[in-house]
Amino acid sequence: MTDKKVALVTGGSRGIGKACALELARAGYDVVINYAGNVDAANKTVEEIKALGVDSAAYKFDVSDKEQVNANIAEIVEKYGRIDVLVNNAGITRDGLFMRMSDENWDAVINTNLSSAFYVSQPVVKVMMKQRSGAIVNMSSVVGVSGNAGQANYSAAKAGLIGLTKTLAKELGSRGIRVNAVAPGFINTDMTKDLDTSKFLDFIPLKRLGEVEDIAKAVKFLAVDSDYVTGQVLEVDGGLII
Ligand code: NAP
Repeated sequence: MTDKKVALVTGGSRGIGKACALELARAGYDVVINYAGNVDAANKTVEEIKALGVDSAAYKFDVSDKEQVNANIAEIVEKYGRIDVLVNNAGITRDGLFMRMSDENWDAVINTNLSSAFYVSQPVVKVMMKQRSGAIVNMSSVVGVSGNAGQANYSAAKAGLIGLTKTLAKELGSRGIRVNAVAPGFINTDMTKDLDTSKFLDFIPLKRLGEVEDIAKAVKFLAVDSDYVTGQVLEVDGGLII
């Protein structure tokens, strides 16, 4: 049990999730991270969070597996007693043209990026409803707004997260729970390291790719600083899809 406010960041071991976890730690939250399998990265992130003077722990579970999610959220709630901020960030890509897309790649991306937010949010919202407060930020993508050739599965999942965000904002507002989404453009992480991103610079008014801290600042704004903002999708993309 902790006296401090508690944040849970899925996919918090690396990339955008790690930056969000550190930003929330700087804001004074105890931060629980989840990860899929990269134990070294997860442990390193926990150490970096603790160095900021707050508590942290890493939970390994597959966000696309409802049973694993329920068992682990129950453990987290048992240990920390509350959850004030949830960042549904874990995600994967399995790109390919629609007509060649396998069922396996469709299901993996929908389950990991979209169904995961349903699985994780349900038990967390139960806790937030008892507290009569909480904030959820879903990690969408600009391609959930604009679509993208070669990413039918990923675009559909990220668009689904926007629908989920707006619906939960309407259902949960009266319980003191705010729900928003961030839609990043091209951000420098492991997910984009194999893409030839130079060709995108022509289309980005700010003429650079995003850094993980650009997204973390937006997440912290929506989760912590924006008491009267709910149901919104904040595009953080250097102007890519204006
Ligand atoms: P990343 O560097 O590949 O990191 C992915 C994170 O998700 C890791 O912590 C990974 O854990 C975790 N993860 C993956 N599958 C999981 C599963 N089944 N269960 C639990 N955790 C899982 O990705 P990123 O670029 O930071 O992306 C983070 C989020 O932002 C994703 O939702 C992504 O779609 C979204 N996004 C990214 C960009 C971009 O340009 N990078 C743009 C728009 C949106 P392990 O370390 O254990 O593997």
